Amino acid sequence: MFKNKIILATNNAHKVYECKNILTNYEVYAFSDIIQAFDIEENGASFKENALIKSRAVFNALDKDKQNDFIVLSDDSGICVEALDGKPGIYSARFSKSQTDKDNRKKLIDELQKKGIFESKAFYTAAIGISSKFGDFSSHGWMHGKVICEERGENGFGYDSLFIPDGFTKTLAQLEDHDKNLISHRFKALNLAQILIKVLSKAY
Ligand code: IMP
Repeated sequence: MFKNKIILATNNAHKVYECKNILTNYEVYAFSDIIQAFDIEENGASFKENALIKSRAVFNALDKDKQNDFIVLSDDSGICVEALDGKPGIYSARFSKSQTDKDNRKKLIDELQKKGIFESKAFYTAAIGISSKFGDFSSHGWMHGKVICEERGENGFGYDSLFIPDGFTKTLAQLEDHDKNLISHRFKALNLAQILIKVLSKAY
């Protein structure tokens, strides 16, 4: 029986940290805490498709007992930059050759500067995949703002040191974790996901 136990279908420690801080009413585990970690090919054409590929792959890898006890959530997310025609989008984690956060940020700055642009409107998207005994569901959240061509701040991960949310003067990497979690794409998508989880938990 589902007792508020959630498995996150991700190996990204930053995402696990943020999701745990948001999903405070649940026992939250990274999937590598529960089963042998494995790679999942993200070959979907949208955040939603990739999120559902990940949550379903992990749910299917659970044995029957665990499928009765857990709901699996995934997060597929990224940043879309207006001046780059929406890039890097679903390829945010794989933007640069090395695929490290540092090189991904450098590539974003380089691509903007090549166009003679030093800031651009941008938004983050998070799609949450929800896989359960009763099928697959999804939710989305967005955070709008702008990217700048200079790193500011040390907190967060990914593109946070380049992103200033609308209504703020600081980058996400200059905000406290708690403040990012009140406005983030991930927070908004997980809030909607929690409504679906509550409905599903009644059926378990
Ligand atoms: P995914 O693991 O394929 O979903 O890729 C997510 C990538 O998008 C991360 O590696 C970051 O580059 C970027 N990203 C997503 N959410 C955030 C965030 O909250 N802050 C900074 N970067 C993010």
